[in-house]
Amino acid sequence: MKSYRIATIPGDGIGKEVVPAGQEVLEALAAQTGRFTFEFENFAWGGDYYREHGVMMPADGLDAIRHKDAILFGSAGDPAIPDHITLWGLRLKICQGFDQYANVRPTRILPGIDGPLKRCGPTDLDWVIVRENSEGEYSGVGGRAHQGHPIEVATDVSIMTRAGVERILRFAFRLAASRPRRLLTVITKSNAQRHAMVMWDEIALEISKEFPDVRWDRELVDAATARMVNRPATLDTIVATNLHADILSDLAAALAGSLGIAPTANLDPERRYPSMFEPIHGSAFDIMGMGLANPIGTFWSVVMMLEHLGETDAARAVMEAIEHVTGNPATHTGDLGGTATTRQVTDAVCAFLAAHSAQAPQVA
Ligand code: NAD
Ligand code: MN
Repeated sequence: MKSYRIATIPGDGIGKEVVPAGQEVLEALAAQTGRFTFEFENFAWGGDYYREHGVMMPADGLDAIRHKDAILFGSAGDPAIPDHITLWGLRLKICQGFDQYANVRPTRILPGIDGPLKRCGPTDLDWVIVRENSEGEYSGVGGRAHQGHPIEVATDVSIMTRAGVERILRFAFRLAASRPRRLLTVITKSNAQRHAMVMWDEIALEISKEFPDVRWDRELVDAATARMVNRPATLDTIVATNLHADILSDLAAALAGSLGIAPTANLDPERRYPSMFEPIHGSAFDIMGMGLANPIGTFWSVVMMLEHLGETDAARAVMEAIEHVTGNPATHTGDLGGTATTRQVTDAVCAFLAAHSAQAPQVA
């Protein structure tokens, strides 16, 4: 029987609550299908590890997870540690160390979820945002000098390479070609950023010629925010730089009803390294340790993990369980206006999986 080796890294805050919930769902799925198993190894890296060792993860940490089939991640962020240390010391170390250059963020309004867009039909908002995940504004290049003096200077240099831009745009065109509408919007800001973003536009045009079946357009990032709110149905697949997509995808998550639902995949499309799957939310200090976190973002990330592993029927089964559970207000957590706990939502998803066969054809 196939066994998938999964590294679980809960990290900080509610990551410690939602990742074990995701593991439970995968275990329920495996028990129910009987076709594969999961071999989990947990890595207690993050803020607590930092307090003990002065680093978020061990120096040879990547070697411990390099040969896994996938990584399930929670959140990095601790109330007592500066955010740039927790982010760069753990999550970005893994994303960059394993060259997970494509960050993929599907957004839909799930059944039973009351989104803020009042004129939006249930199928108007169905997007996948592709975020460049290896360079750009978050390349880490820059520095500070003359600290504390009036002449203090600080730079964050955005790095865009032809190789990096080509591979993310090609990935996005390919993804758009695989979706029914075959529609791609390339986000840019080449009116103001007149070097790298102009190259980005030129490369988009070049790559588009490889994909004659994909309709595509360009939108400035600021105009894109308004389009997402006012004309959501005109968008399908969206590709943007690291910073632009970071911001647009939080907006997308809010428009879909809650940050607690949104999933993401950090992919190495070439599969040289394990890819990493995580909810997009952070540590949620205000509710951590209370058992109130919405685990749906993690469960949807588990769906993306199963798709990446080639287990499409199993992925569909978990997605169906998620939609069944969001469809019932009794299993809504606080972020959705309900009173359900992480435990109750997890039990509801596992119960649905136990009652339905992942191998039978699914009816939408
Ligand atoms: P956050 O996502 O942690 O929380 C924002 C708000 O949304 C909070 O009110 C929180 O309670 C709520 N929320 C988020 N996820 C929820 C869920 N699953 N269920 C119910 N409610 C949920 O964002 P923040 O407050 O800006 O950041 C807190 C910490 O997390 C910071 O240290 C930040 O750096 C870190 N962070 C990490 C990641 C990551 O590791 N990928 C992402 C975002 C933020
Ligand atoms: Mn973000």
